[in-house]
Amino acid sequence: AKAEGRGRFQYYSSSMTDAARDRISIDARLRRAITRGELFLHYQPQIELHSGRIVGAEALVRWQDPVEGLLAPARFIPIAEETGLIRELGAWVLREACRQGRAWLDAGLPPLRLAVNVSAQQIRHGQFDQLVEQVLRETGFPANLLELELTESVLMDAHSEVARLLDNLRARQIRIAIDDFGTGYSSLVYLKRFPLDVLKIDKGFVDGLVHDRDDRAITLAIISMARALGFKVLAEGVEDPEQLMILQAHGCDLYQGYFFSKPLPAQEFVQRLQVQPVS
Ligand code: C2E
Ligand code: CA
Ligand code: CA
Ligand code: CA
Repeated sequence: AKAEGRGRFQYYSSSMTDAARDRISIDARLRRAITRGELFLHYQPQIELHSGRIVGAEALVRWQDPVEGLLAPARFIPIAEETGLIRELGAWVLREACRQGRAWLDAGLPPLRLAVNVSAQQIRHGQFDQLVEQVLRETGFPANLLELELTESVLMDAHSEVARLLDNLRARQIRIAIDDFGTGYSSLVYLKRFPLDVLKIDKGFVDGLVHDRDDRAITLAIISMARALGFKVLAEGVEDPEQLMILQAHGCDLYQGYFFSKPLPAQEFVQRLQVQPVS
């Protein structure tokens, strides 16, 4: 057995697979990373289609690991989900995004909506609304500029409790977005059961928008359904102008994607903001 951190023991054995060993190693390092300030956020602009203006950003976590260098979330979020560390990590992301958002307001930047990814585990564990409340109070970030991105799986959970949680958040004017829309459960019941604000069309459908008839049909159906239900709709992963033209022609409200910008470090995001046309 090998001691890891304060009183934590982890057992390595020869029968352990490389994947299991890798998972334990990442978990232990990630735990330290949170307290040592090795995590930071990138911000991907969200653009309003009709005006072409940046109206918000999605905060996406990055990890500057002293051993492996810069790590993308795919490398550590799934592990954090498995070990439960995602709750601490998610709280850190929320706090950091709100702190940054407040700092931008204080610096005189126009109000921008910040979207933060929330793991199903953060919701399932309870008291998530209290965390949000506390973070908003601590940072002074306006609740109406905060958007929480949930996945469909969250909505399929314990209905009454999730509904109450979302009601509480929305009573505070926080917006709720459904991430990766269309890739989760096929039931659409939750669209009328829950108070929602935004549907984010998964990149998978947007990828095929120009050349795949089915992807196009699904994308356009999601746009018209969202509009009919009174939700905003955002297309994710837009990479070229043809996709943008189709989205625009069919009344999609917002988009994000490499075509406009990759997720950017905070400073570069601010520079990007300053070149946009004044309304
Ligand atoms: P997501 O929430 O669906 O985020 C969108 C991902 O697509 C981001 O990858 C973004 O960089 C990427 N992307 C955006 N536009 C384009 C495009 O035009 N082309 C391509 N190829 N990719 C594009 P990233 O930052 O690597 O994040 C991956 C996933 O990790 C996220 O998917 C989300 O599920 C998770 N994640 C990231 N940050 C957090 C976080 O703070 N908390 C939680 N719970 N999950 C996070
Ligand atoms: Ca997201
Ligand atoms: Ca997504
Ligand atoms: Ca995704």
